[in-house]
Amino acid sequence: MKRAMTVTYRVGRGLYVNMTNRCTNRCDFCIRNNGEGAYGSDSLWLIAEPTVAQTLESITAADPSSYEELVFCGYGEPSVRLYDVRAVALHVKERYPELPIRINTNGHSDLIFGFDTAPLYGGAFDTVSVSLNTPSAEKYNEMCHPVYGLSAHEALISFAKNVNKYVHNVVFSVVRETLTDGELRECEKIAEMAGVTLKVRTYIGK
Ligand code: SF4
Repeated sequence: MKRAMTVTYRVGRGLYVNMTNRCTNRCDFCIRNNGEGAYGSDSLWLIAEPTVAQTLESITAADPSSYEELVFCGYGEPSVRLYDVRAVALHVKERYPELPIRINTNGHSDLIFGFDTAPLYGGAFDTVSVSLNTPSAEKYNEMCHPVYGLSAHEALISFAKNVNKYVHNVVFSVVRETLTDGELRECEKIAEMAGVTLKVRTYIGK
């Protein structure tokens, strides 16, 4: 496996930020199973996790003002470094107040830290996109292999509901190819109940 220090990379008009390769899931459909990068990037397998300062340096060098969005995504789960990711986001917000900031997450941060982490997203992110993946805890467990087992699915739904109080735009994302029509309808109901938008995407990374 080739490793690099690809901390930022372009996806369309978005500047993506890769601060960790750690993840609390091991999804069958993870883009990491198919290669080393995403959307033509260099390898996203990191030589070492970048510090907050290194991450800000990489973002500044990429000229964020020429992008439409900054996205914490990774080749891993960004919320495992929630405090560092938040610190970077707050710095960027101060310097580029017009640039929307999103975090793509598996929604496990309450389980990772052991408390209600939703307030930590407030003021730092304009959008929190949570991978719902499936309406069923059992299927989530089979597809995503969370280290937290069956409790992970309920926890991510609860996280989305809570973070909705602090962040303007909270989204549940699902991959269309992995869902039956009935499952998609169930996901729509869960999103409605949680008060968040459902985004249906096609299979290609996160
Ligand atoms: S949560 Fe995201 S990074 Fe982690 S295994 Fe699943 S798709 Fe990959």
